[in-house]
Formats: sequence, structure tokens, C-alpha cells
Amino acid sequence: MPASDTLAEYRRKRNFHTTREPRGEDRSESGPKPRFVVQIHDASTMHFDFRLEADGVPKGPSGDPYDKRLAMPTEDHPLDYRNFEGVIAEGEYGAGTVIIWDEGTFRNRSTDKRGREVPFAEALERGHAWFRLNGSKLHGDWALTRFRQGDGGEREAWLLVKSRETDGARQHTPDPRRARSVRSGHTLGQVAALEGEAK
Ligand code: MN
Repeated sequence: MPASDTLAEYRRKRNFHTTREPRGEDRSESGPKPRFVVQIHDASTMHFDFRLEADGVPKGPSGDPYDKRLAMPTEDHPLDYRNFEGVIAEGEYGAGTVIIWDEGTFRNRSTDKRGREVPFAEALERGHAWFRLNGSKLHGDWALTRFRQGDGGEREAWLLVKSRETDGARQHTPDPRRARSVRSGHTLGQVAALEGEAK
């Protein structure tokens, strides 16, 4: 599907006169290695947004990068969303401050039962994907596995689990309020204060 179609929901939820989030016009960014980003988002509830580039669009799920975590899928976001750090204005969808906590590239490690590589987008479609992150903070293998919630299985959710095989030092979930941006070194509070001053 062309990126313009997959971004329709993303655009519908936002008013680009009041939010500085990208509209997603630039589809030229995708390089040879797919990218990931982990943003910390101080919205109505604090959460991690974990985005993987798949088929040219960084996909949800939004979730926490460590251990066994529940990850809820979100609408597709534009590629350049991985560059977004700042404050989403009050009244806007997802209002609150965002920092880029970690970023890097990842390698698809998804295989079928016979050990043959399955393309990443297809692995996500099938509901089970393995990948190796090469970030500034996050390194190692993770798996995303889909399951269904609710009586009729109507809600889609994912589990994000770090592989035990590729461990090195065990990494712990950061305290989101103390965590620093991998780009600017700023905390959520500092980003919010700096943008307040700029107004
Ligand atoms: Mn978010």
C-alpha cells in the first residue's frame, strides 16, 4: 500500500496547524537498513512508543522495550516521526512531551519452521517477528508476538520479549522522568521547559 493510504488515520487524528508533528510528506528517507526508534511520551499516561520501520512506515506497537511487555498497536506513523522530539500541544491527540530515548537500525531475524527467512512485514502479518536491535542503548534480539484480547478476541495486542540467548548486560527499564534523549541529552522536563521559553 502506498504510504499516503497507510497514513490516513494518522493524519485524521491530528490538526497540523497546532501540532509540530510531521505530516509525513517525505517518503525518501528509507535507507538500506530499516530503523527503529523508542520515544518516551508523557501523555495522559506515560508510555514508551516503540516504532519499527516496516514497508517504509515505522509501525507501532507502542510499548516498553524490556522483558515481557504488553504492546498495543497504534496507527502507522510517517517515517520522519522518528525525528520528533518536542511538545504536542494541549487539546491535540497525544498531547504531552516526547523525547527520543533511543534509535538505531534493526535486522530481521524472522524465520519459518524450516529456518528460511521471512520478510519482516510478512512476519508481522503472521503475528510473530524476531529482530535484532542495534541502537545506542538497546542491543540484542527481541520478539513480537500477537495475541487477541476480549471475549471475541476483538482487540489485537502484542507481547514484546527480549531473547535470553543474546544477553550481555541485563538492561532495565529506565525511569521515564529521568531518562535522557539520545539526541539532545534532555529529559522530558527539560524539553517541555525549553519549548515553553521559546513561545
Ligand atoms: Mn505515544
